[in-house]
Amino acid sequence: MIVVLKHNPNPEQLQSLITWLQEKGIIIHTSIGEGNMLLGLVGDTSKIDADLISALDIVEDVKRVQEPYKNANRKFHPEDTVVKVGNTQIGGGNLTLMAGPCSVESEEQVVAIAKAVKASGATMLRGGAFKPRTSPYSFQGLGEVGLRYLEIAKEETGLPIVTELMDLSQLPLFKNVDVIQIGARNMQNFDLLKAVGRQEKPVMIKRGMSATYEEWLMSAEYVMAGGNENVILCERGVRTFETYTRNTLDLAAIPVLRKLTHLPIIVDPSHATGKSWLVDPLAMGAVATGCDGLLIEVHNDPAHALCDGPQSLKPEQFDALAKKLLRLKEFVKTIEE
Ligand code: PEP
Ligand code: MN
Repeated sequence: MIVVLKHNPNPEQLQSLITWLQEKGIIIHTSIGEGNMLLGLVGDTSKIDADLISALDIVEDVKRVQEPYKNANRKFHPEDTVVKVGNTQIGGGNLTLMAGPCSVESEEQVVAIAKAVKASGATMLRGGAFKPRTSPYSFQGLGEVGLRYLEIAKEETGLPIVTELMDLSQLPLFKNVDVIQIGARNMQNFDLLKAVGRQEKPVMIKRGMSATYEEWLMSAEYVMAGGNENVILCERGVRTFETYTRNTLDLAAIPVLRKLTHLPIIVDPSHATGKSWLVDPLAMGAVATGCDGLLIEVHNDPAHALCDGPQSLKPEQFDALAKKLLRLKEFVKTIEE
């Protein structure tokens, strides 16, 4: 339920409304929409009499929210959420470029790639230490040592780190990680979502391979219900009948999510296509469609990468693409003004 207040509501009447709702076990989120203050009510609102609230002097309107996601819902929070990470911001008109190797393979590898992508305009270093691999015989990531190498690359470049958390037990190791990635395979690991909701680091939730927008937003809701509002969504393609590409990139997700939620939207054309030559056109398409940033896999030697070489760009390819993406973002802003 959303309570839209009149302009300059009487502070005492507002406080007594808030206290009355809180006594009924309702959690209240305040935000601003079209100049009016909004109260977003979360909890069991079925016993709240909307007519009673509508009749109050300070209330302009009362709306029931049909969607099961509340905190993540744009109706609750009309303004875009901007997630601050170190010196950079995700959302709010920026183009975030998260880049790096699928897997951290060595200190030299990740430091060299971090330096290269930073010079090309990347704002975050993305690399995997704990890897969700389809086969138990594939390289599983360097684990804790990989996290240490990411930290060294962060110390050397200043780039914030985004890396995947696969299991609750790994959380204490993530002290120096800046954004926790929840992978597609864990999008509905509800215990993991609850755990990252109870801590403060921003969380990027990748879309499950067959997840609907609503299921994906409910995963965000899990994190937000725990008190962590710094959630980022990442479209990484969904499973369809097409086998030519690794997945099918759903660019419609960008405008649809923009309508349904206030959370920032990142697009991952690397996992969506599985082919390095498709990363460029789809990244451009994602920027033209209005995403807040991209996640792009970059490897200094894709042919010998331990994971996802075929979809990885070489640093020089990333450099050329990053320049185009940043120019396109500026161009899109000018034609939308
Ligand atoms: C990844 O980002 O490295 C990854 C494994 O992606 P996804 O969870 O989208 O498959
Ligand atoms: Mn990968």
